[in-house]
Amino acid sequence: MTGKRLKTGSDFTWKDIEVGNAVSEAGNAALRRTGDWRSQRPILDKGKCNKCGLCWLHCPDAAIKPLEDGFYEIDLFYCKGCGICANVCPKEAITIIEEEEK
Ligand code: SF4
Ligand code: SF4
Repeated sequence: MTGKRLKTGSDFTWKDIEVGNAVSEAGNAALRRTGDWRSQRPILDKGKCNKCGLCWLHCPDAAIKPLEDGFYEIDLFYCKGCGICANVCPKEAITIIEEEEK
């Protein structure tokens, strides 16, 4: 919410239209569900993971979170399914599957 009063009818002019393709409120990316259009997703097998953190370092969307026990989890709210984490994992602990697969 911008806190602006909503205008209607002749009260509303072109000056009230939000600028297109612009970030009007900076720092709001964390609020956006950006993983919705993913067609593939990563599955992390903790049994193979050596806790090296390479997946966490390379994920371009910061969708991999470190856990207190040293392992990592993938946050599908943000993950785009790019597969970079699976490519950099030295233990082949991450598999990319089609989104419709269980
Ligand atoms: S698939 Fe891509 S976006 Fe998703 S967790 Fe791996 S590196 Fe990050
Ligand atoms: S890159 Fe692979 S082995 Fe390293 S922390 Fe991530 S899942 Fe585990």
